[in-house]
Amino acid sequence: MNDYFGYRENTLHAEQVSLQQIALQFGTPCYVYSRAALESAYRAFGQALAPRDHLICYAVKANPNLAILNLFARMGAGFDIVSGGELQRVLAAGGAAEKVVFSGVGKRADEMRLALQAGILCFNVESAAEMEQLDRVAGEMGKIAPVSLRVNPDVDAKTHPYISTGLKQSKFGIAYDQALPLYRRAAGMAHLRVTGIDCHIGSQITEVSPFIAAAEKVLALADQLAAENIVLEHIDLGGGLGIRYDNESPPAIADYAHALLVALRGRSAKLIVEPGRILAGNAGVLLTRIEYLKHGEEKNFAIVDAAMNDLMRPALYDAFHAIQPVQKNRHRARHYEVVGPVCESGDFLGHARELGIAAGDVLALMSAGAYGMSMSSNYNTRPRAAEVMVDGESVHLIRARETVAQLYAGEKIIG
Ligand SMILES: *Cc1c(COP(=O)(O)O)cnc(C)c1O
Repeated sequence: MNDYFGYRENTLHAEQVSLQQIALQFGTPCYVYSRAALESAYRAFGQALAPRDHLICYAVKANPNLAILNLFARMGAGFDIVSGGELQRVLAAGGAAEKVVFSGVGKRADEMRLALQAGILCFNVESAAEMEQLDRVAGEMGKIAPVSLRVNPDVDAKTHPYISTGLKQSKFGIAYDQALPLYRRAAGMAHLRVTGIDCHIGSQITEVSPFIAAAEKVLALADQLAAENIVLEHIDLGGGLGIRYDNESPPAIADYAHALLVALRGRSAKLIVEPGRILAGNAGVLLTRIEYLKHGEEKNFAIVDAAMNDLMRPALYDAFHAIQPVQKNRHRARHYEVVGPVCESGDFLGHARELGIAAGDVLALMSAGAYGMSMSSNYNTRPRAAEVMVDGESVHLIRARETVAQLYAGEKIIG
C-alpha cells in the first residue's frame, strides 16, 4: 500500500474512490489504476534526471493501455516498444514517433518498415543479421535508419532468471566482444546511421550496483567508439528498476537516477532510460471477488474470479503480490491459498495468506499495474478484465471488459 491505495474506515480506496464501489459498478475481475500514482512516478524520474539532457522512454509492454500511454505522452515521455503493434498503440495514444526506441531480438521486416515510415528515434539492434536486414529494408524505402547496438554487458542483474537479460548466455543483445567490430560495420553501411548505444540487463532489479556495472561497460565501449570517430548522440541504459511487492527494498528513483548521472559525468550524449515496472507497477491493483471458500484439513482455499490468465506473474515466476481485503476487519482471519478457477495447479494468486474473509468479499491484488493486464490471456475462454482509471474523485473506464463473442469472432466452422 502507498499514498494512492489505502484504507479509509476499513475500506480500501484508490485515491478518493472506494474500491468496493468500483467492483460493484464495473464488475470483477477489474484492474484499477491511479492517475496520480502514474504521474508522480514519472515526475520523480524527470526531476531526478533534470540536471542533464535526457529522454524517459516508457516501456510500453509493462502496461500498454492507451489512456496510460496518453498520460505519459502528455508529460513529454518517449516510448520503448518491442513490436509494430506497440508502435501503433503509441501513435494512437498521441505519442511522438520521434521519441520512440524500438527494442527486441526479432523485429520483422514489416515492423521495420512501419517504424521507418513513422520516423522513430532509434532501432536498438540486437544482432548482425538484424542489422543487415534493417540496412536492406531502409535502402528499399530510400531511408536511413538510426541505430544503436544493444550491447550485452555480461552483468548479473540478481533477479529472477526469466527476467534477467544481460548475461552472456542470454538471447538478448550483442556479445560485448563483438560490439566494436559490429559498430565499425554499421558505420560503413549505406542505409544506417549510428546514433547511440544501448543496454538492458533485466527487470525487477533491487540494487543500484548492477546498473552501474553495466553503465561502466557501455561507457568504456562508447570511449573506444569515440576514438574511432564513431560519435554517439545518446546513451540508453535501459529499464529494470524494481518495485516493492513484499519486503524488497529497491533504491528510490532519485538514488538510482543520481547514480546514473554520476556514471555519466562529463559526457554530453543524451541519456535515455526505458523504465516500465517502476512507473506503472505500484499504480495499479487487480480486484477480484471471492466465489467460494473451501476449508479443508490441510489447507483452506479462497476461490476467486480472477485467475492466472488475468495475472500471470505468480504462475510464471512464482511472484508475490500482496492480497488485501477491500473491506477489512469483518471476519476471523485464517490462512488461505488464494486460487482462480482455471484448470491448472499453477493457477494460484497467493499461498498461505492470512485473511479475514467470506464468500462474496472483494480482494485487491496489490502492485499489479505492470505486467498484469499486459500479460493476460484468454485461456479457458475467459474474457479479459475491465480496466479503470481513478483520477481524484472520478472514475473512468479505460478498457471495457471483453465479451465472449469477441473472443471467437475471428473463428470459422468448416463446411
Ligand atoms: C521490458 C524492457 C524494459 C522495461 O523493463 P522494466 O523492468 O519494466 O523497467 C526496458 N527495456 C527493454 C529493452 C525491455 O525489454
